[in-house]
Amino acid sequence: VTTLSGRHVALFGLGGSGLATARALVAGGATVTAWDDNAESVAKAAAEGIGTGDLRQADWSIFEAFVLSPGVPLTHPKPHWTVDLARGAGVEVIGDVELFSRERRALSPEAPLIAITGTNGKSTTTALIAHILSASGRDTQLGGNIGTAVLTLDPPAKDRFYVVECSSYQIDLTPSLEPTAGILLNLTPDHIDRHGTMENYAAIKERLVAASHTAIIGVDDAWCEAIADRVALAGRPVIRIARHRSLGDGYYAEGAAVMRAEGGLAEVFADLSGIATLRGSHNGQNAAAAIAACLAVGVSKAEILLGLASFPGLKHRMQPVATVGDVTFVNDSKATNAEAAAPALSSFERIYWIAGGVPKDGGIASLSPYFPRIAKAYLIGRAADEFAATLGHAVPFERSETLEKAVADAAADAARDGLPAAVLLSPACASFDQYKNFEMRGDAFVAHVAALPGVTMLI
Ligand code: ADP
Repeated sequence: VTTLSGRHVALFGLGGSGLATARALVAGGATVTAWDDNAESVAKAAAEGIGTGDLRQADWSIFEAFVLSPGVPLTHPKPHWTVDLARGAGVEVIGDVELFSRERRALSPEAPLIAITGTNGKSTTTALIAHILSASGRDTQLGGNIGTAVLTLDPPAKDRFYVVECSSYQIDLTPSLEPTAGILLNLTPDHIDRHGTMENYAAIKERLVAASHTAIIGVDDAWCEAIADRVALAGRPVIRIARHRSLGDGYYAEGAAVMRAEGGLAEVFADLSGIATLRGSHNGQNAAAAIAACLAVGVSKAEILLGLASFPGLKHRMQPVATVGDVTFVNDSKATNAEAAAPALSSFERIYWIAGGVPKDGGIASLSPYFPRIAKAYLIGRAADEFAATLGHAVPFERSETLEKAVADAAADAARDGLPAAVLLSPACASFDQYKNFEMRGDAFVAHVAALPGVTMLI
């Protein structure tokens, strides 16, 4: 990034994206003083020739900007002293998306930028949009919260499309963000612990759509509905989307279709019924958002429909990974609490459900409306006793203990029944009693499924 060329920049947080940001700043001619609580990360950066120094001892009057790495929320207790020092010295506190945004403004403000936020569905919607764009042959750059640091993407140019997932932290640190199309999917009381109040959390998310040329807002919850009204009142074009109700104007999920409504007249825009990776009304909402965003940046309906139909899905999120006869094996390892497991349980009619791990408060009681769909449950990990008590006599279950046994038993039971069904890993639990993270749990599931006799892999 060249917008801070010749300037002195402080940077805190030298994990993957922090390091990428430091490199980009140095390559663009800035003088960087970087720091981290972790001495190894500091040593690694120093070995690359990046300037390092303890920011507590630094002379803050020399800094033009303070870049806080995306992994480090503003309210994180440890770097809080750095934010206090920066603010005390009148140094602006920004993030890597802000640096990207300034670069875009300087090099190519017309480069289309789609930014996505919300409590749930961000990664799926981001990946879906990027897939539609790249499948249509456009130069597509995918980054942000989804994993790739934005400053490692190709530099802004005309006809280069950016699709950027933004966490609240990133929006908070990006005052100049001005997306071509900005998406706010939904707001539920998550992450409030880190943002103080729901009002504060919602206000940060609102900034993204309020600054967008076209604002695309899910209006299923009252928070987002109020935001859509305010943004529209301010004179911005707003496209409303929904999954739980129909709309007079906008895009909404109805059964397996995404409807387009205008002036009270509705028609089917896209039929998702044959698309295994877009099952469920939550994905109807994600698809509605993607459709509205792609149209806003000039993608044709035919191109959008082709992209939807070939979406490979995201790993570990209701991902169909294999079939054995009429039985589909689905990896939803990302569902680490009951709320996240609900969409998968509502998307299949006959389920052999693998659940368990480290349970969250409230357990799986909230999932009882889906119990009639569960042919049998296979309980693993620490949650087994608690989940067994909740399932009681409502759902047959066994204590499989390990994922390997759960997969083998569920596959055998489903094959014996001979009905179309899903063997679903949607654990409603954290993984760390048996796996390092949800990704490794999902990968283990896939490996056990791949070893089944007669299996056809879909990935
Ligand atoms: P995020 O990036 O916001 O965490 P993901 O796209 O990774 O969201 O999806 C995570 C989980 O959230 C999914 O497995 C699904 O259970 C649920 N989900 C996905 N899209 C939505 C949506 N539009 N509304 C509500 N829940 C959703």
